[in-house]
Amino acid sequence: MHPDSSLQIESKLPWVGTTIFSVMSALAREHNALNLSQGFPNFDCPDELKDLVTHYMAQGYNQYAPMAGAPPLLEQLARKAHSLYGAQLDAQQEITITAGATQALFTAITAFVKTGDEVILIEPAYDSYRPAVELAGGRPVIYELGLPDYQIDWDQFADLISPRTRMIIVNSPHNPSGRVFSPADLKALQQLIRNTNILLLSDEVYEHLTYDGQFHQSVLRYPDLYQRSLAVFSFGKTFHNTGWKLGCCIAPPALTAEFRKVHQFNVFSVSTPMQYALADYLKQPDNYLQLAGFYQQKRDAFLEVLQNSRFRPLPCQGTYFQSADYSAISDEPDTEFAKRMTVEHGLAVIPVSVFYSSLRDEKVVRFCFAKTEDVLKKAGEILVTI
Ligand code: PMP
Ligand code: GLN
Repeated sequence: MHPDSSLQIESKLPWVGTTIFSVMSALAREHNALNLSQGFPNFDCPDELKDLVTHYMAQGYNQYAPMAGAPPLLEQLARKAHSLYGAQLDAQQEITITAGATQALFTAITAFVKTGDEVILIEPAYDSYRPAVELAGGRPVIYELGLPDYQIDWDQFADLISPRTRMIIVNSPHNPSGRVFSPADLKALQQLIRNTNILLLSDEVYEHLTYDGQFHQSVLRYPDLYQRSLAVFSFGKTFHNTGWKLGCCIAPPALTAEFRKVHQFNVFSVSTPMQYALADYLKQPDNYLQLAGFYQQKRDAFLEVLQNSRFRPLPCQGTYFQSADYSAISDEPDTEFAKRMTVEHGLAVIPVSVFYSSLRDEKVVRFCFAKTEDVLKKAGEILVTI
């Protein structure tokens, strides 16, 4: 069909193409490559959880859930936040169940960012933040992290704050670097925005994936900070079911009320049987407490594999991503290198430059190690040949 020439499409996101996660997973499929690019496990979620969904479907839990979420799930999440982070939450007024973390982030940004507002993003960053800010009419202000350790210098960071700053978006454990906030980071942040009108959007989807004895520094642990925060979580990361697209947003009542004004017209509510199933499954804390040990083993197995290669692994304190510097192998741009790894070597990875607005290329690629042992071993066999 010929396009109608009277139709002028003026893109609201002219600089945006297809997300790297779709691009690399498609390339991996096309070339039958091992897919260590997009972040998802290659193993299934627990049978017990699937059986619970089936149970609730059979019991007739198939109509709209309440807009904010199924009450038992809200209750279980409030309990969990109390036992892990000491937070005293009102389940009904402070927790909203969303269609994954991506929707929670989008809804939070849409609810609070107005035309001309500045939003500070820390890059490299998950790729949904900046388009969401721009669609809301906001202006992204970028703080760049980089080699060797992706540390934030909070004094430098403070220089980015202006009277127009409406929101700061942070992410710990951090995708893609694997860096984890320390208590000092949270305290610096708390100090920085105390007595301002700045909101904090805290992406905590990897809350359970911290290694080497580190504890996740949730904003829920810091009552002062929490008063001006929206914290976002994802069940997909915690229970190996990224395809269910379920998550939540936790925020004080006044912020949650604004969040829900958008949420109700954005999705209204999300899958009913899955919410009831998750509520039951959350009753056993071991179901999420054992995750750190489970993934730390995979990280260590993957690090061992990398040791025999020419890739130089960067520190990974959390998430299920391991980044590595490939500058000893090639000086190609990372996007080209990632494509060549997929097409010629049969191993798909993510080039880290795509997480920067500036496309800063430090010759780093990201591997997802949420994979079974055999896949990690096969990856190792390929990596030593590159
Ligand atoms: N934030 C970060 C940092 C992520 O890596 C991801 C990817 N899973 C998300 C948010 C989105 O999570 P969800 O799949 O629940 O939308
Ligand atoms: N967060 C996942 C990653 O970083 C992918 C999410 C997505 O595909 N949208 O790989």
